[in-house]
Amino acid sequence: MGRDDEYDYLFKVVLIGDSGVGKSNLLSRFTRNEFNLESKSTIGVEFATRSIEVEGKTIKAQIWDTAGQERYRAITAAYYRGAVGALLVYDIAKHTTYENVERWLKELRDHADNNIVIMLVGNKSDLRHLRAVPTEDARNYAERQSLSFIETSALDSTNVETAFQNILTEIYKIVSQKQLGDSDRGGDLPDNDVVDIHVPDSTPGNQRKKSGCCNQD
Ligand code: GDP
Ligand code: MG
Repeated sequence: MGRDDEYDYLFKVVLIGDSGVGKSNLLSRFTRNEFNLESKSTIGVEFATRSIEVEGKTIKAQIWDTAGQERYRAITAAYYRGAVGALLVYDIAKHTTYENVERWLKELRDHADNNIVIMLVGNKSDLRHLRAVPTEDARNYAERQSLSFIETSALDSTNVETAFQNILTEIYKIVSQKQLGDSDRGGDLPDNDVVDIHVPDSTPGNQRKKSGCCNQD
């Protein structure tokens, strides 16, 4: 397992998507290797964590789950605050949950950081006989929207590990790239070649600090 308090990066990732698509079970599968047949939508944990290795770094993923607020479209701004990744989940056997992906994307545009990494996740891939959303449709849609895409099954574990591993790697690549830029230029503004940081020299102990992104400790 490794000690949970030792990590190089802490990334907040939110689970979103319609009620019943399997968000809570994706979370419990990934963090505890558990699956629940009954939907316990009223008992929501705020978040669960698990650390994984990416390119020799320990990434602690703090994955936020809803407590069923999505049912009332009442997810608060606090839920999205500081999130660097989002798993937008639909149910491959329930077409309406796929149609609503559009609404969830709008919700992300309105509430989340512009640079949030989004992965479209078609869950319940085990329900082959009930499939209502063709893989290719979703893949093409994701491509047009510049989202990554994967199909998972929280029930039989297919691709759950891969989904989280992929999004965390994607986030890590962006963040580590950004830090490279930070130390080169001393700033966090990708559109500017030179960023001049003015540090008032009258302030004792005021030093140039790397701009913090993403709760790195
Ligand atoms: P949430 O409302 O999005 O958090 O969805 P839940 O995780 O509570 O799951 C809703 C229902 O779908 C529960 O009855 C789960 O057992 C079931 N479920 C979740 N993931 C899967 C899956 O991958 N395959 C199948 N067949 N059922 C699933
Ligand atoms: Mg849930």
